[in-house]
Amino acid sequence: MIDVIVAGAGPTGLMLACELRLHGVQVLVLEKETEPAAYVRALGLHVRSIEVMDQRGLLDRFLEQGKKYPLGSFFAGIDKPSPERLDTAHGYVLGIPQPTTDRLLAERAAELGAQIRRGSELTGLSQDDRGVTVELADGTRLRSRYLVGCDGGRSTVRRLLGVGFPGEPATAETLLGEMAATMPADEVAAVVAEVRQTQKRFGLGPIGDGVYRVVVPAEGVAEDRTTAPTLDEFRRQLRAIAGTDFGVHSPRWLSRFGDATRQAERYQVGRVLLAGDAAHIHPPTGGQGLNLGVQDAFNLGWKLAAEVNGWAPDGLLDSYHTERHPVAADVLNNTRAQMTLMSTEPGPQAVRRLMSELMDFEQVNRHLIEKITAIGIRYDFGGGHELLGRRLRDVELKRGRLYGLMHAGRGLLLDQTGRLSVDGWADLVDHVVDVSEELDVPAVLLRPDGHVAWVGDDQQELLEQLPRWFGAAIG
Ligand SMILES: Cc1cc2nc3c(=O)[nH]c(=O)nc-3n(C[C@H](O)[C@H](O)[C@H](O)COP(=O)(O)OP(=O)(O)OC[C@H]3O[C@@H](n4cnc5c(N)ncnc54)[C@H](O)[C@@H]3O)c2cc1C
Repeated sequence: MIDVIVAGAGPTGLMLACELRLHGVQVLVLEKETEPAAYVRALGLHVRSIEVMDQRGLLDRFLEQGKKYPLGSFFAGIDKPSPERLDTAHGYVLGIPQPTTDRLLAERAAELGAQIRRGSELTGLSQDDRGVTVELADGTRLRSRYLVGCDGGRSTVRRLLGVGFPGEPATAETLLGEMAATMPADEVAAVVAEVRQTQKRFGLGPIGDGVYRVVVPAEGVAEDRTTAPTLDEFRRQLRAIAGTDFGVHSPRWLSRFGDATRQAERYQVGRVLLAGDAAHIHPPTGGQGLNLGVQDAFNLGWKLAAEVNGWAPDGLLDSYHTERHPVAADVLNNTRAQMTLMSTEPGPQAVRRLMSELMDFEQVNRHLIEKITAIGIRYDFGGGHELLGRRLRDVELKRGRLYGLMHAGRGLLLDQTGRLSVDGWADLVDHVVDVSEELDVPAVLLRPDGHVAWVGDDQQELLEQLPRWFGAAIG
């Protein structure tokens, strides 16, 4: 009996494996592909994911491989500067291609002792009160206490569970690939700038060595999107949209993606859960999908570990759905809005102009960027202090930075009074007595995912909150 089987070694499944291993949970990751994908979907990490990596001591690895960019122009590509006064120590986008993110997470998961089995496709599942039986394409049967479907937008796990995936089908498709071009670079840039004034779903971005990342609307919606487009299809569409095919040749890879928007009705059925693209799909505008999946995993990991390790309070695992489903629904909402704002029709173009005016108000610009970067998220923990339910940004303490104390994925009481205690929960919660000039509350209790579970200075109140997140006191 394996503790947890994770289906899918994409960023969501790998992040989840890392989080589970921090709590000693035995994890097997099944991945149907024999080799990691060569094509590049996501191009970067947003603030909250950068913070997540920092909280787990992984940020240096990501910074080494990535490049920092300003946060402006992320909402529907509307050209605006980064908002001032963002509530984070990391107010930038980290440009890093998805295959690198996947590799870094796979390396970390393996270091922590997760087993990743490539060339293993999950094809069947059944569950009972005690566990889940998983069937693989080669006929192997495995048994685990829990299964998490992180198997992408076409999730087999979701289908086998019979979980509804309501939303809108793809109505537009975009071709995406990397290829060389014979047209001189300055001419390419001039044509791109001209065409992009009206066509926002088009672009040729130089990625070095005369190679471009080419994005261009497809002619229709392909019946079978798993079939890669041809170079001729790219040439045809480039000519139709830009009046030239730029002399594109020597493709490294070619792919296509649609704008379907859907969300799983339930993230949990018994002992089987869904996370990442398996739970939600939406167009890539704003660059949010990978980030959303990594953050699903960050929310789920410690809760599932608590179940496996036997200390989960009632309702803790259910809170994965209640907290994360609304977050993804909000992302679906903002990507629908962004897609509308990127339409070339006169009505949406007029709304885009108005939106652009509104974004000159600092508060509007910041509100939208807080959505895209996911630092505006507030889980519903009930009424109380304004920090309650939000993640706490990294703050400077006398002994160093807060996030530096969270690498092990445990709960943390940051106590500026020195009068509080976590006796009875010391196995799960670190008690840090220290002060921060950036924090004007006496004490905060942080969950392992860094969200604020309690604010105050009253030991009795703290004793009422600790069991809600960390179960009964021990000893
Ligand atoms: C063009 C494009 C650009 C994007 N840009 C961004 C961006 O800039 N920023 C951003 O945050 N997001 C972006 N995204 C979205 C991002 O790529 C996805 O949201 C992300 O990959 C989801 O991760 P995942 O781990 O949930 O799923 P996936 O990455 O799809 O991984 C699922 C894994 O499961 C495996 N699998 C499938 N079925 C099975 C099975 N039956 N058994 C075993 N394994 C299985 C698959 O082979 C795959 O490896 C973009 C997407 C596209 C298409």
